[in-house]
Amino acid sequence: MKRYNEQEIEKRRTFAIISHPDAGKTTITEKLLLFGGAIQQAGEVRARKSARYATSDWMEMEKQRGISVTSSVMKFTYRDFEINLLDTPGHNDFSEDTYRTLTAVDSVLMVIDSVKGVESQTKKLLEVCRLRHTPIMTFINKLDREGREPLDLLDDIENTLKIQCAPMTWPIGMGKRFRGTYHLYTKEITFYDPEADRGVGEVITVKGLDDPRLDELLGSQVDELRADVELLEGAAHPFDQEAYLAGLQTPVFFGSAINTFGVQQLLDSFVDNAPSPLPRETATRTVSPYEEPFTGFTFKIQANMDPAHRDRIAFFRICSGKFVRGMKVKHIRLGREVQIANATIFMAQDRTNVDVAYAGDIIGIHNHGTIKIGDTFTQGEDLKYTGIPNFAPEHFRKVRILNPLKSKALEKGLVQLAEEGTTQVFRPLMGADWIVGAVGMLQFDVVMNRLENEYGVKAVYEPVSYVTARWVTGDRKQLDEFQKKEAMACYTDGEGKLAYLAGSQWRLDNTMENWKDLEFHATREHS
Ligand code: GDP
Repeated sequence: MKRYNEQEIEKRRTFAIISHPDAGKTTITEKLLLFGGAIQQAGEVRARKSARYATSDWMEMEKQRGISVTSSVMKFTYRDFEINLLDTPGHNDFSEDTYRTLTAVDSVLMVIDSVKGVESQTKKLLEVCRLRHTPIMTFINKLDREGREPLDLLDDIENTLKIQCAPMTWPIGMGKRFRGTYHLYTKEITFYDPEADRGVGEVITVKGLDDPRLDELLGSQVDELRADVELLEGAAHPFDQEAYLAGLQTPVFFGSAINTFGVQQLLDSFVDNAPSPLPRETATRTVSPYEEPFTGFTFKIQANMDPAHRDRIAFFRICSGKFVRGMKVKHIRLGREVQIANATIFMAQDRTNVDVAYAGDIIGIHNHGTIKIGDTFTQGEDLKYTGIPNFAPEHFRKVRILNPLKSKALEKGLVQLAEEGTTQVFRPLMGADWIVGAVGMLQFDVVMNRLENEYGVKAVYEPVSYVTARWVTGDRKQLDEFQKKEAMACYTDGEGKLAYLAGSQWRLDNTMENWKDLEFHATREHS
């Protein structure tokens, strides 16, 4: 049976790049876009990025909003594939949106700096991928520098990230001695030539590692390669597409993004192996991307695109069916029909209005605050997509209002900003001061500036000694007991859900130990 929109859906790849700052995400993005013909020269993505990071004050950030929106989703084509690359802010604009973006993709590309190995932010992002068993492809970057031993890097990934590695290519030397890579499956030697177009010199296919031509080609370095690959045969895992698709194994490529070396190999393997749009869970059933009715969910809200209009843009992942401009859909939370007249599709170059889009695509829907994160739209069926949660904040501040007559406006502002996913708010069961929680520090400034500009509230932050939060659920009686005993650390969040805030990981573990019958959640679904 031919499935609805089969061809359109099968050629789509929707993914994000996870990495620690400075591992090379921007550089790779740029090279991918060059291969996709979406930009004409290296430097374009970087220019946008530096415009974004050069900003320290709010007004500047405001001006740059357009930039962060254009780079939020970059659509490009490669071979016959339609690729949606979703940006995961990672420097000082790291935020809960970074995590939530990972709930909207079908796979990720993990970039590791060969000098540094697995770093903290990568580890956090990988934990988010694990919630949905997201397939992960790995690129070990900066082989033109003296980095750690490749085998040591694979060990690091396996031990720190608890995922099997399946090397696809293997580097021949590194730093000054970097000659290129040997492809373990196609048996191609790809020579590194920083002077050549796209960093790639000759590509020679050999008969395997015993091929005597290798001695000619690589001289003394061939012994090293042979020894490494022999070791790999005992220690590493062969590529297994099923294990990759189940998120249990990551195929690993080596290269040097700045020299474009290894990027095309990676991109080819990505389009060949990464999943096309996958089925998605709702509260009631699994929805296949090949179903005819249009459905999808919002995973990110960007506010004040145009400050004069208080306009918001909701980033919406299509999960099934076909989007056609002007179509009427049901906004499930509000229980009413809405028309999507003004949607944007994100091309790598700029934003254009869309006429049609399919499962896997991201559209931007303009609205005035009627769309929240996690909202589902369908063509009538009552569905609620799950798996687009709030994530436990890692930084906390107490809010002290300076114009107390505005306390209602403060409440409204904090709750609305929480709905947009900017930060989370917590109201104490005892006492009056609101606590703002965030995943990235910049969000605190965003909140203060928006409170003042949009809600007329002047406030300051005061430090507070929390480091983590958990949502607590369980038996009503037990919960009442818990709230009595732990009242000082109990809060309700923007949607009125009970949260426990802890001053240390030890304290949290201890509380969980003492309240074994209650459940402590690091994420919370939107209601
Ligand atoms: P991001 O923070 O992950 O987006 O990283 P960038 O792409 O901005 O790269 C961080 C720094 O590493 C920049 O100075 C890049 O020029 C540099 N870089 C990226 N790829 C390579 C590479 O393959 N080799 C070397 N030596 N430097 C690289």
